[in-house]
Amino acid sequence: MRQYRVLGKPTPPESLKYDIDQETFKKSQQYSKAKAKFSIFTETYSLLQNCLIFKYDFLPFLWSKAGAGLKAIAPFLPKFLGISPGGQIAQSLIFLFYLQIIQVVVSFPVSYYQNFVLEEKFGFNKLTIKLFIADTLKALLLSAVFGTPLIGGFLQIVTYFGDSFVLYAWLLVFSFQLILQTIFPTIIQPLFNKVEPLEQGDLRTSIEELAKKNQFPLTKLYVIDGSKRSGHSNAYFMGLPWSKQIVLYDTLIKTASIKETTAVLAHEIGHWALSHNLKMIITQNIYIISVFGMFSLFVNNGALFQSFGFHHTKPILIGFLLFNDILKPFDCFFTFYNNILSRKHEYEADNYALKQGYAKELARSLIKLQIENLSSMDADWLYSAYHYSHPILSERLSAIGYQPEEKVVKEKATKSD
Ligand SMILES: [Zn+2]
Repeated sequence: MRQYRVLGKPTPPESLKYDIDQETFKKSQQYSKAKAKFSIFTETYSLLQNCLIFKYDFLPFLWSKAGAGLKAIAPFLPKFLGISPGGQIAQSLIFLFYLQIIQVVVSFPVSYYQNFVLEEKFGFNKLTIKLFIADTLKALLLSAVFGTPLIGGFLQIVTYFGDSFVLYAWLLVFSFQLILQTIFPTIIQPLFNKVEPLEQGDLRTSIEELAKKNQFPLTKLYVIDGSKRSGHSNAYFMGLPWSKQIVLYDTLIKTASIKETTAVLAHEIGHWALSHNLKMIITQNIYIISVFGMFSLFVNNGALFQSFGFHHTKPILIGFLLFNDILKPFDCFFTFYNNILSRKHEYEADNYALKQGYAKELARSLIKLQIENLSSMDADWLYSAYHYSHPILSERLSAIGYQPEEKVVKEKATKSD
C-alpha cells in the first residue's frame, strides 16, 4: 500500500526531473501500478490455493495417488533400478511429477495473463503462444532431468543418515550448483535462446580491452536474442573462476551506445573484482545449511505429519514441503538481509566503474535502461528496503555523482561515440 501510493505521484523525483519526460514517467507509473495490482492478485491466488490444499487434505490424497501410480508402473520398470511398489523415493518422485503437472495447469491462466495481457499492453511481450508452450515444456523436461537425481539423491541421503544428513545433503546441493554454473551458458541457455559469439567490431574490442585492463579471464563473449521473448534489456556473466563468459542481450546493444554498454560491463566486472558473487554464494550456502539444520529437527516429528493428514507414514518429501511453510517467517529475515547485501554490492560495483572512468556513461546507461524497461522511477523507502535487490535509480545516480542539471541524456547518443 505504501509503494502503491508512491506509484500514484504525478511527477518524477527531483533528481530525475530533467531526464525523464512527463509522458515516459506517466507510462512507467502505470506499468508499475499494473504490475503491483497483478502481484497482489497472484499472491492472494496462491495463498488461497495453499489454504485449500490444507483444508481438503490434498497432500495425503495426492500421496496415495502417487502410491497407486507406482504400483501400476512398478512391474514394467527395469529390475536393476531396484524400485519396489512401496518404495518411498520412487513414490516421492511420482508425487512431485503429479504436483508439477497440477501447478503448470493451475498457474497457466496467471502466466498467460502476465505475458499476453500485462506485458503486451506495455509493448514488452515478444512471446508467441507456440513459443510460450514450447518454453513450458522445455522447463518441465529440464526440471525432470535435473530435479530427479537431485531430489532422489537428497531423499536417499536423509533415509540413510537419519537426522545427521545435513552435511551430506549440502554437499549434494553444492555439487549441483557447480554443475549448473558450468553448463548453463553452453547447454541450458541455448535451449531457450539463440546464443551467438559477439561479432568482431568496436564493441567487441572495447569490451576485450576492458577485460584485459582488469585481468578478467574472459573466454567467451556471447549475444543472446533476449528480444525473442521480451523487450527488457540486460547483461550477465557466468562460469568458473578461471573461465568466464559474458552474455549480452541484443536489446542492451540496441539501446545503449558502445561506451555505455562497456560501462555496464565495467560495473559487472566490478562485481567480479570485488568477489561479490563469491560472497553471495557463501551467504546462500550458509542459508542452505541452516535450512537443512532446522529441517533435521522436524524430519522425525510425528505430530507435524499427523496434523496434516499423514497418520501412518512420515514421507521425507512431505515433511520437507510442510517444513517450507513453517520456514516462511524466517525467510523474511533472510530476504531482507540478502537484499541489504545485494544493494551494498551494487553501490560498490558502480563505484568500481566510476574509478575506471565510466561515471558519465554508466549514469546514462542506467537512465536509458530504466526508461527502456519502464522500471519504477521512485519507491517508498520501507518497501524498497525490504523488496529491492538494487538501490533505486536516483540513489545510484547521486552516489555516482551525477548532476541532473547537465542534461546529458538529452543529447542523443550515437552508436559511434
Ligand atoms: Zn550489479
